[in-house]
Amino acid sequence: MPSSLRQRPVQRRSPEVRLSGRILYLVDDPDLVAAQLAGRDLDWNPSIRLRDNISTDEITPAYICYYFDETLGEFPYLGLKAGDGFPVTRGSVKAGGFVASVAGKRRGKGSSREQSPYAEMCAGIRLVVGESIERIYRENCQNLGVLTTTDFSILDRLRRGETIPLGVFTDGEGQITRDIIEFGGLFNYNVARLQGRVTVPALTTRKRPMTIAEKIFARHWVADAASGRTGAPAVRPGDEGFVITDIRFSHEYVTPMAAIFFDQLVGVDEPLNDPASVYFFRDHLTFLDQAMRPEHVQMGLLDVAVELERKQREFARAKGVRLYGQLEKRLNLTGALAAAGSEAICHSKILEAHALPGQVIIGSDSHTPHAGAVGCVAFGVGTTAIFNSWITKDVRVRVPESFKVVVRGAKPENVTAKDFMLQILRHPYVKGGQAIGQVIEYAGEAVEALSVDERATMTNMAAEVGAFTGIIAPDAKTVDYLVTQRGLPRAEAERRCEGLFSDPDAEYVTVIEIDAAALKPMLALPGDPGNGLFIDELGSPVAIEIAYAGSCTAGKKEDMDMYARVFREGLERGQKVAPGVQCFIQCGSREVFEYCRAMGYDRVFADVGATFIEPSCGACINAGPGVSRKPTDVTISAINRNFPGRSGPGQLYLASPYTVAASALAGHISAWEPGQVAAALR
Ligand code: SF4
Repeated sequence: MPSSLRQRPVQRRSPEVRLSGRILYLVDDPDLVAAQLAGRDLDWNPSIRLRDNISTDEITPAYICYYFDETLGEFPYLGLKAGDGFPVTRGSVKAGGFVASVAGKRRGKGSSREQSPYAEMCAGIRLVVGESIERIYRENCQNLGVLTTTDFSILDRLRRGETIPLGVFTDGEGQITRDIIEFGGLFNYNVARLQGRVTVPALTTRKRPMTIAEKIFARHWVADAASGRTGAPAVRPGDEGFVITDIRFSHEYVTPMAAIFFDQLVGVDEPLNDPASVYFFRDHLTFLDQAMRPEHVQMGLLDVAVELERKQREFARAKGVRLYGQLEKRLNLTGALAAAGSEAICHSKILEAHALPGQVIIGSDSHTPHAGAVGCVAFGVGTTAIFNSWITKDVRVRVPESFKVVVRGAKPENVTAKDFMLQILRHPYVKGGQAIGQVIEYAGEAVEALSVDERATMTNMAAEVGAFTGIIAPDAKTVDYLVTQRGLPRAEAERRCEGLFSDPDAEYVTVIEIDAAALKPMLALPGDPGNGLFIDELGSPVAIEIAYAGSCTAGKKEDMDMYARVFREGLERGQKVAPGVQCFIQCGSREVFEYCRAMGYDRVFADVGATFIEPSCGACINAGPGVSRKPTDVTISAINRNFPGRSGPGQLYLASPYTVAASALAGHISAWEPGQVAAALR
């Protein structure tokens, strides 16, 4: 424990809460919102409609998240749509003296960005009220010390200036959550835990059949934080506690804010706990200067975004953390300085170089489950959880339920792991939201036949399933991967996989079976990855303007093999990227980039007319070459999600690497059949 925390006084909040300040009602009527911001208190009653479904994108739009300190307090609700207007302006909430903010149903839906409750907190909001509140947003509020409730009767008490019992905010919560609220946030709670002043309820689960994920949780269960003792005989879904992590990583969207928390609350000179197992990445925004809207550049947001890189780099250097950074810019063929991308996208590098079977890995990103391809429990967490893990090396969990997807049989040659996922995502169990927060375990002959790279496409897209994580039990292919990719001695690779399988009578909430032989190449229609269709069900041809082949999901070595295979076939027939189509190939890491050079793929890509660009998230996060520019642009993309606006304003179709390459040649969405690219053109 850092020395500054040993004696740090932390105490529970008073059992009575007094909140002084105004109440802001986020209502449908833009004039009423503007009037409150101008100083008029609203005499709210249920006939005045509150805004439902306020997303974290509305609380803090993505470009606002380039700020990473208290400046965020200038911006809460800047993207809030009320009627046809956007009534909140910079600084108006903070200037209004509000202490509580009230909304309708599903408050805080969407991304898990912690910038949203932090912006509200920095603007003075101490109490968040909603008819219902989304789980991650609520947890982020609790971690920051912002109170939450769905009980509207509190508003009358607030108006009357009454004190409110703290129990109103903790009733019905588990012991750990109650303690976190009472200590005013996760950091204070963890300080008290490390000082031995609060105890985590003991695990009472007896030995039982377990899934592979449950076994990994049990191995990592923190039995005693003070002594560092870990391990439990068994866990079951619903068990609450902490697990020790093997790897913690974050990227430039999150590291700077977590670093500020660390500097302020722990101390600028204090070390991180085991910095050798912490990794930082500069991956999301390296090409932002080529994609940012001119009005945002004029607002100075490009300069602000550059600060994210600087803060992360300096913090990494100060704490001795390995930073996979931005590559040096280099001269291009015209003699101009060209952007040079990233060393690696976080998920790509964690799998390529660090993840080992049986580990617990946390990352500041929803696609952290990528590393489940080699049998890890890997999951995304918020900023406060990452910051706390730098102190404690552990992370709070509630053991999720598991469900199993068995993909049987042998797949056709032109069907890939991406097609498996698009089929799973349109399954009613997943589409209906029942899989949310569960572990998805993939099994069956067709999964066993996949390479580790292809397995990673499936575990990566556990994020689109809404799952807690995705995992595949390690096997002989995993051992081979560890030997060839990592250089591990075979005996060590085999030892690391020992015991990592689900018991035959382990419990799953459901088992979904898919026949691989019956699958055909798929796509997802624009708007949602769950909009899956077989390509031959598409009807009339869909012409494309952009083909994008990259991202953590589709920028691996085997993805490059697939693009190159289709393009080589095309070249043999005299085909190139179709006129009017721009095709971009972007690797997940510098290692994949060098692999392409060694295999001669860079020449294939150049010969066929595709643009081969340096690694980065780029177009996948609307921040690089390959983004659409207007709503009518049509893109076929191998990335993992196609929510509106994800990669520009256009129509974004998802598909496999084979389909993206075949479509680039055809000029319209087209499945690849070995040797039949030419036929698709007739
Ligand atoms: S490539 Fe896309 S999905 Fe992957 S980490 Fe980057 S932004 Fe996220």
